[in-house]
Amino acid sequence: MHVYADNAATTRVSKTALDAMLPYFTEIYGNPSSLHSVGQEAKEALENARERIAGHLGCQPREIYFTSGGTESDNMAIRTAAALGARKGKRHIISTAFEHHAVLHTLKKLEKEGFEVTLLSVKDDHNITADQVRAALREDTCLVTCMFANNEIGSVLPVREIGAVCKEAGVIFHTDAVQAVGHLPIHVKDDNIDMLSLSGHKFHGPRGVGVLYIRRGIAPANLIEGGGQERGKRPGTENLPGIMGMAAALDDAIANMDAHTAHVTALRDKLIAGLSKIPHCVLNGDPVDRLPGNVSFCFEGIEGESLLLLLDAKGICASSGSACTSGSLDPSHVLLAIGRPHEIAHGSLRLSLCADNTDEEIDHILAVVPQVVEYLRKMSPVWKDLEAGKRQYITP
Ligand SMILES: *Cc1c(COP(=O)(O)O)cnc(C)c1O
Repeated sequence: MHVYADNAATTRVSKTALDAMLPYFTEIYGNPSSLHSVGQEAKEALENARERIAGHLGCQPREIYFTSGGTESDNMAIRTAAALGARKGKRHIISTAFEHHAVLHTLKKLEKEGFEVTLLSVKDDHNITADQVRAALREDTCLVTCMFANNEIGSVLPVREIGAVCKEAGVIFHTDAVQAVGHLPIHVKDDNIDMLSLSGHKFHGPRGVGVLYIRRGIAPANLIEGGGQERGKRPGTENLPGIMGMAAALDDAIANMDAHTAHVTALRDKLIAGLSKIPHCVLNGDPVDRLPGNVSFCFEGIEGESLLLLLDAKGICASSGSACTSGSLDPSHVLLAIGRPHEIAHGSLRLSLCADNTDEEIDHILAVVPQVVEYLRKMSPVWKDLEAGKRQYITP
């Protein structure tokens, strides 16, 4: 059996999305800026996609900017608020300790450029509160950027309340909603959001295409210079097949959200209940306010990388949620941010589900993971020390 449970990393492009893309490679392949009919047909499709996406988010089409994905949207949003802030002498930014690197590394860069950054702690509840944001606000705060939902541990943040605090204080509020769009109900006006990032490939659209919503009245800052596309704010010939695929995938996700959420949440809860029975493990992330498809655990006494390789051999694609892809031995900044000690942060496993996953697949995971964890523990010197009482268990 082959089980794909790494949907937070990327998703399979749906048949609907693929079918929506194909004509724009070979039939309606014109440049939307061209005046001839093939170009104008492309332009119409582009504006139609923009209108549909704006409709789903609850904003105006002119507030939508197409980008190359979540990373670019996060960069552009933060740079936009920073540029506006700097003009007024406001150089303080509030964010959280468990943001995606697209946000954290942009903020690090801004620190070198003279900005001051406050990262809110997510240690106790694996989440933040609007009160934490309120307490961190200063006279010179120019931006609050908090993700909608965390990609590693699944916590869903109280975005509407955070947005209300920012609105009251007159501070721009950006949210990296890459894990939330298409999976959770979002309405940028009702949720008090000034800027929002989304990415096509996290909801069964293609990679390399995303959106930045910027509320009217906020002047976007260019990351690159070029032609007049996207009102001159994001130049470069539009990735029309990608945009059409993303729009179709979002139509689909929104239309089926209730059914998908019910299905995926049931699978998630079964998986969490089953894996919780493994001795000496701990669930990561908010147990209540949680993405429908996210399961994240730390298992004491094992290495997440070995676990992943053995699971892969048994047909299960998962993730450790750690930064070891870069060859670094540091555990994930998210797991450290929620207070997991290094020893157990290394033994992490993230399973991220989508509507294509089945009950049989969950049974397969539940049959395999406990076996593999036991096997790895038998070979682990750390586990031997724990069992012999030479070390103290960290987990209950
Ligand atoms: C995937 C992801 C991103 C990056 O999006 P790309 O389109 O891959 O650049 C940013 N933030 C979060 C929370 C993500 O999950």
